[in-house]
Amino acid sequence: MLDIDNLQVEIDAEAGLVRAIDGLKLAIERGETFALVGESGCGKSMTALALMRLLPEAGYVAGGDITIGHGRDAIDVLGLPESQMRGVRGGRIAMIFQEPSTSLNPVMKIGQQIVEAIEAHTELRGSAARAKAIDWLKRVGIPEPERRIDEYPFRMSGGQKQRVMIAIALAAEPDFLVADEPTTALDVTIQAQILDLLKDLQREQRMGMLLITHDLAVVSGMAQRVALMYAGQIIEVAPAAEFFAAPKHPYARALLRALPGGERRDGPLEAIAGTVPPLTQRFAGCRFAPRCSQAMAHCATTLPALDEVAPRHQVRCLLYAPGATAPLAAAAAPSAAAVTATPAPAGRGAPLLEVQDLRVRFAIRGGVLQRPKGWFDAVGGVSFQVAQGETLALVGESGCGKTTTGKAIVQLLRRIATIEGSALLEGRDLFAMQGAELLAARRQVQIIFQDPFASLNPRMRVAEILDEGLAALQPDLDASERGRRIERLTDQVGLRRDALSRYPHEFSGGQRQRIAIARALAVQPRLIVCDEPTSALDVSVQAQILNLLRELQRELGVSYLFITHNIGVVEYIADRVAVMRAGRIEEQGACADVLARPTREYTRTLLAAVPRLQSA
Ligand code: SF4
Repeated sequence: MLDIDNLQVEIDAEAGLVRAIDGLKLAIERGETFALVGESGCGKSMTALALMRLLPEAGYVAGGDITIGHGRDAIDVLGLPESQMRGVRGGRIAMIFQEPSTSLNPVMKIGQQIVEAIEAHTELRGSAARAKAIDWLKRVGIPEPERRIDEYPFRMSGGQKQRVMIAIALAAEPDFLVADEPTTALDVTIQAQILDLLKDLQREQRMGMLLITHDLAVVSGMAQRVALMYAGQIIEVAPAAEFFAAPKHPYARALLRALPGGERRDGPLEAIAGTVPPLTQRFAGCRFAPRCSQAMAHCATTLPALDEVAPRHQVRCLLYAPGATAPLAAAAAPSAAAVTATPAPAGRGAPLLEVQDLRVRFAIRGGVLQRPKGWFDAVGGVSFQVAQGETLALVGESGCGKTTTGKAIVQLLRRIATIEGSALLEGRDLFAMQGAELLAARRQVQIIFQDPFASLNPRMRVAEILDEGLAALQPDLDASERGRRIERLTDQVGLRRDALSRYPHEFSGGQRQRIAIARALAVQPRLIVCDEPTSALDVSVQAQILNLLRELQRELGVSYLFITHNIGVVEYIADRVAVMRAGRIEEQGACADVLARPTREYTRTLLAAVPRLQSA
């Protein structure tokens, strides 16, 4: 169905020539789902864009071939004139993107957008095309399709918009579908529905599908074969079941061990040291060598080839090169990071925070004068406790009120919302505090956000960022004492001292989250609200941050209110869990109890929708 041979993609960037894809080779059969996985920047999305001939302006294909179909039907994608490529794109190959909101035309009714695709790529016209569009809306599960076909995208939820995108992509009955992170922006229950829908439609249409994702659990439930990319190259390709049961490449093995989950609670996650090398350099040896726990002397000077280790299973690693000695024994050795086991978190102490019947309402404003027209109850009466040294996870789908709850406790909503109920920090109500008492309480409760870049002032150096909060919330400390504390903090969160004189944009996502953690810790808080602190990070970086948070908890006895939608993270880090839905807590209790024996139907549905690694 699709044959990519020795694809080379380069990007003319400010930093120099980036070899984003270097010698990629893969073949996908009719009816097969082939997953391309890897961490950000590894080249997987660039592969999809090259395939669609939609590379960014500075990017170009420097070599290789892409063929769709075979025999007389075969199309040489890279050789086609753009006028013919327009017919292929959306016709024989269709693509679904991650963010449906930005992919749909906001000023066109959804029906028009589907009809446009049908008329461009099939014989149907006018009312026949409209009838077909209604049929597609029905097939992708949009209720009342006859009425909703004339709605604009803004009237639809995120999941419905993604269904419409799928309808547009499949309306032209393509031979091949490229799905680039098709469910990453969706909640788990919607994700499960969309993945089931894609599976069904693919089976019906006998399409080939290239599924691009960073979520290994999604892959294990969807794909027949998997290719793992690292630094612009495929480093392992195998049948999915084999890949998840017994990955061979040291990076693949480390990546699977870096995934959080209940079975790993007793020790640190395997964090892969270092970062992906810049692709502006020419490589003399293995690209993973500086981070590989099994690297040998010649790994830095010998380029590994993609060697066959079993039928349909290839690995790019010198441990498996023909003639290598005892590769499997070496590959089985655990890495240094996995050996240094540390005990589980401190567990439950005396109550630190007691939230009672918390209600948060926002005014709905309208008209020229923005007068209040009504109220929106974001949180409708929640109660929970967080003990000293404990982690309570607050889970639920987007819009359930978990972030609003966290922000209310950190006092970020005082001026913009009506807050009722109480939040007692060691017996004193945070919501009733004023003046000096409030200032002292602000020190005790800190927050870490999902996007560390957006939460750090880009015009301040790291030292100034850390000093700002310290000077405001602990005016009793003089400059030299603050300086000493800031240096200690950089050590604690694993940053080098020279980081202090640099700006946030000079750091990777994981390092920026370390800066945000250091800023929260600077004022020695008792409680940190962690609002999805790892959801924007790659698996290996997530492992580093989760390890760091657990270490700090053990050292400093700090408590966490951990807001997340990732159940694997909850299983790994939380002592207790509270499940939220529509502004209320559905159920709460010890992590092991709620996750293993949920008593509420909603919790059961939520847990059932979470994709799991099926063969690990
Ligand atoms: Fe590690 Fe060497 Fe294999 Fe690269 S070639 S993954 S450095 S063992």
